[in-house]
Amino acid sequence: MRLVEDTEALSRFMATFENKPREGIHVSDVVGVCLRRTLLDRVHGRPLPDASTAAKWGVGLEWEEVLTPRLYPDCERQVHVELDGIVGTVDFVDKEHGVSVEAKATWHKPPGALVDVDVWRKRLWWVFSQHMGYTKMLGKTWGRIATLYVNGMDGDLRWRPGGPELRFLNVYYSQSDLDHNWEELRANKALLIAGGRGEKVLPGAKMNGICGSCPHVDELTELPITQQAHPTFPCDGVARLTMRYLKESGRNIFQQEMSTSMNTEDANGK
Ligand code: SF4
Repeated sequence: MRLVEDTEALSRFMATFENKPREGIHVSDVVGVCLRRTLLDRVHGRPLPDASTAAKWGVGLEWEEVLTPRLYPDCERQVHVELDGIVGTVDFVDKEHGVSVEAKATWHKPPGALVDVDVWRKRLWWVFSQHMGYTKMLGKTWGRIATLYVNGMDGDLRWRPGGPELRFLNVYYSQSDLDHNWEELRANKALLIAGGRGEKVLPGAKMNGICGSCPHVDELTELPITQQAHPTFPCDGVARLTMRYLKESGRNIFQQEMSTSMNTEDANGK
């Protein structure tokens, strides 16, 4: 017997993650996990994932494309929605109720009860924010989130070995929560547009720990060590250089796609 690693198969798998330029400002861009990263993606291109990240993306894609439709068979896939110059692609719309079904594959659940709103607000606010955005765009006040916890519910401190677990939530929002969230998304859109004009250095990551997996980290290694250092804004130097480049080149990264909504009002965040 002989074991030989099939590197060609790995290359084929990695090639499925080629990057296509994205058009428009999307809900996921303005949820605000890191506006700076969104802008760097557009200006410098989004670096391809490493094999480990690609494997995680692959699990997420399969969960969304293959498994979720088994749960809600009467759903329309990848529904395009648009409001106030923000574009959304809803994973699924439940045809019976017209609500969004968001498919999430995540490694494990954070500590706390599954249906504890405070846990979601503190630890998974970005999932909420995106889902609230889609819910508002669809003119609804509730929706569904279908989650695959790849490593199980270890945050519950239960004595059982890890393993995949499924949890399904119906999430009901108040109209004021939806409206407040939407205003935040609109304000982030205005910030992004100002950043794309080279007028503003955008804020860094709003979520602890994501800088470590940032695809732009290689660019950061070009910087002097003091500027790479954690914990606050390790890519401040890159963000400033990007702004200077946009300003000096007169290039506006959102110009073509945002011609209708990109006006002074937006840039002022109103
Ligand atoms: S290193 Fe952190 S702050 Fe900088 S772009 Fe990446 S995620 Fe954002």
